Amino acid sequence: MYSIWWRGLMAPLAVAAVAVIAGALEGLAAALVVVAAGAVAIVAWQLWQLAALTRWARGDIEAPVPEGRGVWALAYAALYRRVRMRSARQRDLRLALDRFVSGAEALPEGVVVLDRSDRVEWANPRAEAHLGLDLERDAGAPIVNLVRQPAFISYLSRGDFSEPVVVQSTRETSTTLSIQIVPFGVEERLLMSRDITRLEAVARMRRDFIANVSHELKTPLTVLAGFIETLSDVDLDERQRQRCLALMQDQAKSMQRLVADLLALSALESEQSPAHESEFAVVPLLLAVSADAKALSAGKHEITLTIGDAANVLGGRDELASAFGNLVSNAVRYTPEGGRIALDWRVTPEGGEFSVSDNGIGIATEHIPRLTERFYRVDRSRSRATGGTGLGLAIVKHVLIRHQAELVVDSEPGKGSRFTVRLPARRVKVVREPAEQTSTSKSAAAS
Ligand code: ADP
Repeated sequence: MYSIWWRGLMAPLAVAAVAVIAGALEGLAAALVVVAAGAVAIVAWQLWQLAALTRWARGDIEAPVPEGRGVWALAYAALYRRVRMRSARQRDLRLALDRFVSGAEALPEGVVVLDRSDRVEWANPRAEAHLGLDLERDAGAPIVNLVRQPAFISYLSRGDFSEPVVVQSTRETSTTLSIQIVPFGVEERLLMSRDITRLEAVARMRRDFIANVSHELKTPLTVLAGFIETLSDVDLDERQRQRCLALMQDQAKSMQRLVADLLALSALESEQSPAHESEFAVVPLLLAVSADAKALSAGKHEITLTIGDAANVLGGRDELASAFGNLVSNAVRYTPEGGRIALDWRVTPEGGEFSVSDNGIGIATEHIPRLTERFYRVDRSRSRATGGTGLGLAIVKHVLIRHQAELVVDSEPGKGSRFTVRLPARRVKVVREPAEQTSTSKSAAAS
């Protein structure tokens, strides 16, 4: 402060001193001339400095603070300090904003900032993808012009945002979105969008599954209830009664099979890897599966088993036995009497291969990708008539997933099918030199 006064008074004091000297030497007139000239010079100097300051203040915001002289040097220095502090604060704010924006951009959910008139102010890339927006093009546009689904428009106008609304994505109709409005600030709103396609699919699968199980149980239960009514209301002779009981037993067995398959599936789905993993010899398992097939066929098919390489397999023996058994049982059930079924095991550089080939009814190409879905059947009545639950291949699929194995299906309607299980090499170990081993069972009825 002292410095400002001192510097500010230096020029007037110098003029006064010169005026006193001029007055003493030349008289009052000379003194007055010096004072006038000095005052004009001082005012002109101050105005010139003021003009420079005004030019700077009106100029580019980034222009550096000019250097002043005399008393102005102090004012400019103070100004410079202020500008520097403001720049530093702005830089901090910009950094904080950049961090906030990159955080919002990285969110797995879509975020749109809406102004008080529901116009788009900002959107992150996820929201652009979900809602088909382009921020450069759509900034400032009303959100209702961009997201036109009637469910969303009535949600926005209703004003009750306690729950989200579910809509189909504008860009990809197969994507289901959950959109929720979150009010913030003064009458501003955030629109949050979330891709719930998978959640929806799981919920739909659960609903379908419950409906399917109920439907599968309903049929045998209705039949059983009917027979119970007949047995209690109608006088039947012994032969009729026995027939009734046999049919009831069939229905009870089909329910038992369904429940057993459901339990097997749920056990398989609840864990990622086989429950009891061990190294076991594959040949006895193949012989047992083949024997079961022959028992099921009851001599109606020609069943052969070819073992290319004896090997040990690392995995869940019971699970693989059930998967192989399901494939073999399908071959028997979907191959008319007199047909041929070939079971084949071999070891390849890629691992172990077990295939079941039949010359049965075959499957049209469009059904093949869906065969392992629960309760998917090509021919419902044939499946039921042969005691199928519609869950066999779903069980196979889950067993194979747990063994990192794959199922390959080749089939042609009217010609037959081949189901091949491919086990990865790390699960298969050849135990001795390849030895071709074939066992054949020829049906009495084989043509
Ligand atoms: P299901 O208990 O009905 O046999 P699966 O899951 O085992 O159920 O099989 C699903 C469907 O695949 C069957 O309903 C049948 O239509 C078809 N399928 C399976 N194996 C064969 C096969 N070897 N030949 C013809 N169709 C088959």
